[in-house]
Amino acid sequence: DWIISRQRFWGTPIPIWRCNSCGKIEVLGSKKELEEKTGKSIDDLHKHVVDALTWKCECSGEMKRVPDILDVWYDSGAAFYASLNFPKREETLREWMPVNFVVEGLDQVPNGWFYSLLRLGVLLFDSVPYEKVMVHGMMLDEQGREMHKSLGNFVPVMQIISKYGRDAFRAFVASKTPWSDIRFSWRELENSFRKINIIWNVYAFLGLYCSQYDLDESLVLKNLKSLDPEDRWLLSRTERVIREVRNKMDELHPHEAFNLLLDFVINDLSRLYIRIAREKLRSSEEERKIVSSLLFMVLKRTLVMLAPFLPFVTEKIYQESMRQESDPESIHMMSWPEPRDDMIDDEIEEEMEAAKALLEAINMARASAKIKKRQPLKRALVATTDPVLKRALAKFLLLFKIEGNVSKVQAISQDQRPEGRFSVVEFDKGTLYLDIEITPEVLAAGLAADIRRRIQEMRKELGLRRGIEKINCWILLDSETRNMIEPYVTSIIEDVDARKLKLVEKLEEIPEGCFMKEWDLDGRRISIWIQKIQQG
Ligand SMILES: [Zn+2]
Repeated sequence: DWIISRQRFWGTPIPIWRCNSCGKIEVLGSKKELEEKTGKSIDDLHKHVVDALTWKCECSGEMKRVPDILDVWYDSGAAFYASLNFPKREETLREWMPVNFVVEGLDQVPNGWFYSLLRLGVLLFDSVPYEKVMVHGMMLDEQGREMHKSLGNFVPVMQIISKYGRDAFRAFVASKTPWSDIRFSWRELENSFRKINIIWNVYAFLGLYCSQYDLDESLVLKNLKSLDPEDRWLLSRTERVIREVRNKMDELHPHEAFNLLLDFVINDLSRLYIRIAREKLRSSEEERKIVSSLLFMVLKRTLVMLAPFLPFVTEKIYQESMRQESDPESIHMMSWPEPRDDMIDDEIEEEMEAAKALLEAINMARASAKIKKRQPLKRALVATTDPVLKRALAKFLLLFKIEGNVSKVQAISQDQRPEGRFSVVEFDKGTLYLDIEITPEVLAAGLAADIRRRIQEMRKELGLRRGIEKINCWILLDSETRNMIEPYVTSIIEDVDARKLKLVEKLEEIPEGCFMKEWDLDGRRISIWIQKIQQG
């Protein structure tokens, strides 16, 4: 392939003039030279202007420009320098050179931009004009073929966007290794869409408390020492993620940074901390303020890092309720968070990992004894010599209660053989004895949990929003079941956002026009009526 000249209407004119009579050739090196040759002052070097410039040859023939332009890669290489107004203003260029980073596609690499920039950098300044380069892959179809309209496998971007939105498309691409080709996948796109929904739900959860309570970062920072272990764990995780994301971005591994962030929001925040927070937000006013401020702070720091990946949903959340008075008008103008290294606590994160291993063992013990997760159990005994797990047992009581649904977790010595009915599971940190004795109290607690869940399902069917729309509720049951449930009425009322909950044994007591469902809870037939309370 010829790499120097092209025949185009527009482009960088090749500065070569040739005599139409004797064939003499002159190559011009500057505007000044051209002005001397022609005796004219020239302020426009575009093709249509210089093509008209001629002068007389020694042989009295006419010197005319060779009409070709330079190959357009020359312009690509020059555009960077030209955009900074070089050569008119060299100092701006000197300020910017070398640039930190250049990116281009795999298809452009062999003779592409990196090379044309480099070539001009060396010719003009004897230096490399950039510090780092990245080559990105191509989007292929689901079978790994190139996308072509003629193959019928081409997916228009607008089709993707109208189905899942821009952020979901970005999330799909951003989670992939950028220098490899990506196989397009509707299934994975839907998955990305779901992940964004999880981010939104974390925000919506906080939104329930945001409007009601003062959110105050300093409240968290002032109380660092007295925070609960779960709170300190979340802070440590947050700051570690900030540190790691920064490192990944510096290493030009944006996909790893993005996946770390998603993993943090989905697993640490949504699947773990928020479930605990839901419990904590029910306790004292002081506790509520701390937990909601903590969540606010963590979510805000996380969203700022997610903003370059998911610019729309993060901006929406920011504008709706994250933006405070001293903040800039857009999340994209926020400073990148600095990790607070003093909050990173290796010990507590290790302990949480040990606690998670125990929770997994509890789930296995439940499964092998065929006891559902909703059934509260009295106690779990753990025979272990692992000091980390021992500390975790003493620290994460609330976690075991909520996630394990076990009232008490206790360490025992390795050689102890506890008496009673246990489901036993060996795990890598010790042996778990899960007490599966269903006492009347345990049975009643399980039944209450079942009823709670059925009411939640019915609320969902009516489209009632959690924490906002209240209900009245009636439950028809036999007198034995009624006696079992009675002690749990107050806690059920709180859990299902009810104003009133009545246990009844006769049908007449229930008003007309309620939403009713009948349930069979392990052989006990009960009926539940709920009624939305009209507000205002
Ligand atoms: Zn001549």
